[in-house]
Amino acid sequence: MSTLFSKIINREIKADIVYEDDELLAFNDINPQAPVHILIIPKREIATLNDLGEGDAEIVGRLHLAAAKLAKEKGIAEEGYRVVMNCNDMGGQSVYHIHLHLMGGRQMGWPAG
Ligand code: 5GP
Repeated sequence: MSTLFSKIINREIKADIVYEDDELLAFNDINPQAPVHILIIPKREIATLNDLGEGDAEIVGRLHLAAAKLAKEKGIAEEGYRVVMNCNDMGGQSVYHIHLHLMGGRQMGWPAG
């Protein structure tokens, strides 16, 4: 089922887009939890981490490569940052279109809440 992220991909909902290629889109989170908080998503609709198959290894890799590239562009690569993908209710997922959170610009705590 489509989510609001599909509407962002289709430009039906506005977002502050920071990166795009044929397979990925990255945009600033509307409710940032850190000075840098970017969501990186595949353009293809995949609901959760549980829905990934062997054939999705490349797209998962691309999400992470984009995170590292954006971290460098935002100047947080050397000091450090966090990437997170929440899965399902107990994992804290609220939008059912997989997305990697890239967060940085402040000290991260552990364990994550
Ligand atoms: P999740 O909780 O599923 O891991 O993360 C969903 C993220 O999407 C949240 O951090 C939330 O702030 C963000 N989000 C929800 N709606 C919108 C929106 O309309 N635009 C943008 N840019 N981010 C959104």
